[in-house]
Amino acid sequence: MKCPECKAELKEVRVKVHGAKQQVTSHQCPRCEYFAFEPESATQVLQELRETPLRIEQRIIKLSGERLGLYLSKHIVQSLGLKKGESVYLSVPDKRHILIELG
Ligand SMILES: [Zn+2]
Repeated sequence: MKCPECKAELKEVRVKVHGAKQQVTSHQCPRCEYFAFEPESATQVLQELRETPLRIEQRIIKLSGERLGLYLSKHIVQSLGLKKGESVYLSVPDKRHILIELG
């Protein structure tokens, strides 16, 4: 692949993006300042970041009376090693966040 500016041979460079396992492929010109990201690899990394388990939607369920429960997906249970009956500690820093600290 040649540089569209100066026609030198472009160097392929893999760029690590924070939070993503995949890397973005970029093509950089060793002679001038030109560089371009390969659109396909950039799209894959963006997709991966979107699917990253850092933010997972879970439903609140009704237990009994005014008590509500929170589902935790199998993925969370397994990766954190949670067990039934275990204590966790809730902090409510504001009206939009609940922080769950494992005991
Ligand atoms: Zn160039």
